[in-house]
Amino acid sequence: MHRLALALALTLASGVAVFAEPPQSSPRPLPRPMLVGAAPIQMASLLPLPGTARPALRPVAPAAVEAAMAMALALASAAPARSPRPAPRPPRAVAPAALVPPSTTIASASALAPAQSSPAPRRGLAALFAPRPPKPARGSICGDPGIAGSEIAAIPAAVTGCGLVGGVAVTAVAGIPLSQPARVDCTTAKALKRWVEEGVIPAIGRRGGGLARLNVVASYDCRPRNNVADARVSEHGAGHAIDVAGFTLADGSTLTVLRDWSAESKLMRTIHASACGPFGTVLGPKADVYHRDHFHVDTARYRSGPYCR
Ligand SMILES: [Zn+2]
Repeated sequence: MHRLALALALTLASGVAVFAEPPQSSPRPLPRPMLVGAAPIQMASLLPLPGTARPALRPVAPAAVEAAMAMALALASAAPARSPRPAPRPPRAVAPAALVPPSTTIASASALAPAQSSPAPRRGLAALFAPRPPKPARGSICGDPGIAGSEIAAIPAAVTGCGLVGGVAVTAVAGIPLSQPARVDCTTAKALKRWVEEGVIPAIGRRGGGLARLNVVASYDCRPRNNVADARVSEHGAGHAIDVAGFTLADGSTLTVLRDWSAESKLMRTIHASACGPFGTVLGPKADVYHRDHFHVDTARYRSGPYCR
């Protein structure tokens, strides 16, 4: 009887101690075997009065749950060597707990532990097993050091003719940044790089200090051609097309298709013509009214050769 009270006190004390100082305590097995053996005696000699057992469960069970939580936490975060000292028992826990049959305490503890202690271990273990955030994409893509950007998640097809799998968001080609990332496939990214490197940069030359930025106004976009309802889905819907409105030079000045197609006709026409080859389709102000303010370039190929207007 005296031994039993001591055993109970130990159980509570260790539970309470862990409850009080979870991070500092190293896991210490509860003296359950002792209590299991003692259970029948306790059950027979100390039957709780009706109404006293239930309130007693509440202070005990959370402590046991906390013990399990603390153990999981300690396992996850290599507890220090400091051994646990039983904390002074809170007066509240002693009196009611002494009346509780240990078997009930153990049963409820083991029943509660797996269910209620799961959030805490998850918090501790999550730090160990959580997937690391993807590194920000840097450097080259599409196997070409001259193309910078990142791979993008597959874009599902909203309608037939749309969607982009294996796409990339191009942020620079041939060392020239794009005003906004162009979402295209790698074939189109390579065509863009070739056009800028072999066509645009040489055409602009030293003017304004040289080409500084490509002003992209559209890339992947699931829409009909020229935004005309009932028209075929544009090559933009497959990630094959880019619209370029103009070019910013190193001194901050700009060349725009809308303004400079006529005034700087030769330069802009040279740039337009140089896209024909890298791209299968090149459309500008001469093509139609829809392209008065940008060059549309896409990698759709025709048996008859590039279509450039
Ligand atoms: Zn376009």
